[in-house]
Amino acid sequence: MGLGAIFAAEALLPEGWAENVLIELGPQGEIAAVKAGAAPGGADRAAGPVIPGMPNLHSHAFQRAMAGLTEQTGTEEGAGDDSFWTWRKLMYGFVGRLQPEQVEAIAGQLYVEMLKSGYTAVAEFHYLHHDPAGAPYGDLAEMSERVVAAAKATGIGLTLLPVLYGAGGFGGKPATEGQRRFLNDPQRFLELIGLLRGRHGADPQIRIGIAPHSLRAATPEMLDAAVAGLRAQDPTAPIHIHIAEQTKEVEDCLAWSGQRPVEWLLAHQPVDQHWCLVHATHMTESETQALAASGAVAGLCPTTEANLGDGFFPAAAFFAAQGRFGIGSDSHISVSPIEELRWLEYGQRLVTRRRNVLLPRDGSGRNRSGGHVGAALYRAALEGGALAAGRPLGRIAPGARADLVVLDPDAPLLLGRSGDTLLDSLVFAGNQNPVRDVFVGGRQLVEAGHHIAEHDVLARFRGAMKALLD
Ligand code: ZN
Repeated sequence: MGLGAIFAAEALLPEGWAENVLIELGPQGEIAAVKAGAAPGGADRAAGPVIPGMPNLHSHAFQRAMAGLTEQTGTEEGAGDDSFWTWRKLMYGFVGRLQPEQVEAIAGQLYVEMLKSGYTAVAEFHYLHHDPAGAPYGDLAEMSERVVAAAKATGIGLTLLPVLYGAGGFGGKPATEGQRRFLNDPQRFLELIGLLRGRHGADPQIRIGIAPHSLRAATPEMLDAAVAGLRAQDPTAPIHIHIAEQTKEVEDCLAWSGQRPVEWLLAHQPVDQHWCLVHATHMTESETQALAASGAVAGLCPTTEANLGDGFFPAAAFFAAQGRFGIGSDSHISVSPIEELRWLEYGQRLVTRRRNVLLPRDGSGRNRSGGHVGAALYRAALEGGALAAGRPLGRIAPGARADLVVLDPDAPLLLGRSGDTLLDSLVFAGNQNPVRDVFVGGRQLVEAGHHIAEHDVLARFRGAMKALLD
């Protein structure tokens, strides 16, 4: 990657839309300088409007291979009784068979699809660590390295969050057989984190954090050990946790501790802007206010939450309290930032029977989009997603990664739109993918809608799916 520059007739900068923007690239894939009202000089001209690429803050890559395979009623449960828990049983069955090279092939295909839809970074909540019998591979980080290899082969930025999974339920209940590939005690878990930091910690495309799976799967002692162990190595690395996704989880947590999951976590861990609470679907009003005040990012995955029948995140109250959020595609039933943002707003419209509900505020309480809901959601998800990734993302500004999306100037539904109206049209009407070109770390990965390695990646994915589903 050499130094270079990209010239955009229109670009979304942190302070707002600007014209004739020269984006100069630095030697490590960062943005070195941004000048509005500039002349193009020898820069490469972007074909259309340029916006920051979206960080995807929650991914379980292997689940992409299951998308669409669980949309029939279970034979035991019958119509209407399928739930998150019956889905999880099917997911465990699938997990039991996955081989390392298949995980790499699936993640590669997924990351190509992410890049083509405008996600330029992913936070991988990675819990499949061991072989099918539950024994560690010769390299403790074998499965993590497969995720890293897929990210490198496709060029997407990666926040790798190895999962600490130590129990089968609240109160340290023993794990089940279906969970044995996930299990580590805190000591072996921290060994894994140290290995990965040593190998990849200096790569500007990669950040290593941790993900205690949930309060179901990590006891208070495990959580303390993992957080302290990470903080000794990296005081600001991201910490993600699944929380309050299901009402049964809330009931079990109450029975175990007398507190609800979000309430318990905020009372027992130093939750701050380096934490991402994934889902946080079921919160009381006071939990909603407290989570917003903590500065932590709510990791919202509307299409997966809809698919799994989780419930509605209290978005209106959380946004009114200036809570931070980002979006993730989680189980990857959909791989589209547009669809996540749209369903976040549509869920609230259906519940409140009103329009234009979600207008997130910035730190000073202002909404910089002037009432444009699509634009406001896109900007807020950039900020929250960057925080959750623990990487300098989501801004066309000096020092940030040069992760850029060029919209197709010929997309019919974007014609005649500019500025925040363009973002509104993108979010609410961008059904035909309007992403034309994508740069990550200054390197062009998607050209005219095609990823530079998509044929090879698809061939490997085809082989993996044949082996898995035949
Ligand atoms: Zn998840």
